[in-house]
Amino acid sequence: MGSAPLRLALVGIGKIARDQHLPALARGDGVELVAAVNRDGPVTQLATFPDIPSLLASGIRVDAVSLCTPPAGRHELASTALEAGLHVMLEKPPAASVAEVDDLAQRARRRGKTLFTTWHSREASGVEPARAWLSQRSIASVQVTWKEDIRVWHPGQHWILQAGGMGVFDPGINALSILTRLLPGVLKLQSASLSVPSNCQSPLAAEIVWSHGQTRVAASFDFLYAGAPRWDIEVRTDAEMLLLTDGGHRLYIDGTPQVAGRNEEYARLYHRFAELISTGTSDVDTTPLQLVTDAFRFGQRQASAPFHF
Ligand code: NAP
Repeated sequence: MGSAPLRLALVGIGKIARDQHLPALARGDGVELVAAVNRDGPVTQLATFPDIPSLLASGIRVDAVSLCTPPAGRHELASTALEAGLHVMLEKPPAASVAEVDDLAQRARRRGKTLFTTWHSREASGVEPARAWLSQRSIASVQVTWKEDIRVWHPGQHWILQAGGMGVFDPGINALSILTRLLPGVLKLQSASLSVPSNCQSPLAAEIVWSHGQTRVAASFDFLYAGAPRWDIEVRTDAEMLLLTDGGHRLYIDGTPQVAGRNEEYARLYHRFAELISTGTSDVDTTPLQLVTDAFRFGQRQASAPFHF
């Protein structure tokens, strides 16, 4: 990219924006944070606007927006930004449906802008070494275990359990984003069982099985898991066992820890966004979202006890 940094506005200043985006952007590194869109009032030391139209009307020069709002509603925000001539980066899951993302990709193409559907877990330091190691081996079976306590990790985030919020698939899609990086080719849904609280529209737990060629791939998702979270992917090959744990940050082969790089998921995402813009390209991948859609379409729903935060 040229010498001028990318001028970026961050939209939706909730948990992930504060935990990860703001610290990553504070490093600079080719991206300058010049404004925020936040409905709860000003963000410290930043020009803050209640919505994207007010940002656009302000006259502040902005090249791009990064959307950290919940997935339902992103399509409208991203469309507005693209039609105004801005590049757009999307938190995961990129939107409420694959059709919405396809439409955004078309708009980006028409407007000559970059669209980047990010999958931050793919940037975890163990993922690429795991992919490279597995690419040389024959896989016998895969077990994903993605379990955390919604009350600890998503306190008060009611949108997660509403329609479009995806429930336990909101964290689970991180596992699916890693899985689809490790296993090239199609994952065909064999069965899905979704446990949906009687007062919610999205599942709090799910058991899913896919086939990947002749290989069985299973996932167990639980949003009511007390204690230390489990974000693990175990891959059994013909001779050894690979364990990618801690959300992709730590890698073991037959119990032996492997050397991993630094964990800089979000810094890497912003670096890639700037790179995509400088080369006039987009990076749009809906594969993990398609797997969620398959499970929702074909899965068996079982009503469970009402849930309250
Ligand atoms: P959150 O804490 O509920 O924050 C969402 C923010 O978006 C809130 O500040 C909300 O404002 C704002 N917002 C919603 N609609 C808006 C709109 N139309 N215009 C402007 N702002 C709007 O949720 P989160 O945990 O940060 O999650 C956001 C996204 O990041 C999700 O897609 C999630 O999957 C992803 N993510 C989350 C985590 C995590 O650990 N939490 C990790 C990685 C990725 P109001 O309060 O006014 O509604």
